[in-house]
Amino acid sequence: MNARMVPMNALYPNPDNPPSRLRGIEDLAESIKLYGVLQPLIVTPRQRGGLTIIDGRRRYAAADLAGRQAVPCVAAKAATRTDQLLLILAAGLGERLTPLEEAQVMRDLRADGVKFTDIARRTGRSLSTVRERLQLLDTPSEVQDMVAGGTLTAAAAVELARQTATTGSGTVATRAPARPAWFTKSHPMARLVRETCTHRDTRKVVGGVGCGQCWQDVIVADARGEVRA
Ligand SMILES: [Zn+2]
Repeated sequence: MNARMVPMNALYPNPDNPPSRLRGIEDLAESIKLYGVLQPLIVTPRQRGGLTIIDGRRRYAAADLAGRQAVPCVAAKAATRTDQLLLILAAGLGERLTPLEEAQVMRDLRADGVKFTDIARRTGRSLSTVRERLQLLDTPSEVQDMVAGGTLTAAAAVELARQTATTGSGTVATRAPARPAWFTKSHPMARLVRETCTHRDTRKVVGGVGCGQCWQDVIVADARGEVRA
């Protein structure tokens, strides 16, 4: 597919794309001033004219900041919302989506009736990644905040969820057979986390037990067989 230059004012953000994540676009804008937009945006025609940005929201914002009048685009066919969502995920392999952003798109796909296996197959993800992402949405918002902020890896959050199976307060998306206890006082590792954590004054305390980093350290150590509950 060849890229062609498209005027900025013909491009529209995708309403189904996850919430904006535009940190660091100043740096990207500087690079664009020097070298231009090196990687084309992926776009698809809108019914009411113009083009919807499927992949390249950050590049678009940075190009705008850099004063560009047009950016290189590649048009892709995506007639339905489902097609567009799948394209967002597949394209996201180029412009990295965060785990939470991926999860939100996958949740919308599930809402459209797309099977786990089809999401995986059509977006280049493994089935276990798709399941993990959706499980992430079922963790408490404070856990999602930590994943978004980089305090906790998505894998660690989901791994912890797997280890426990009691009550918990999930929200939507997945219908897991058992609800995990997440990061709460009833988690088997909670006592150890409480004993270990010395950061309660300076970091966000999760589940009334300890900071996210200490949760993660204890969980990882436990997974390696280094602690006894
Ligand atoms: Zn701590």
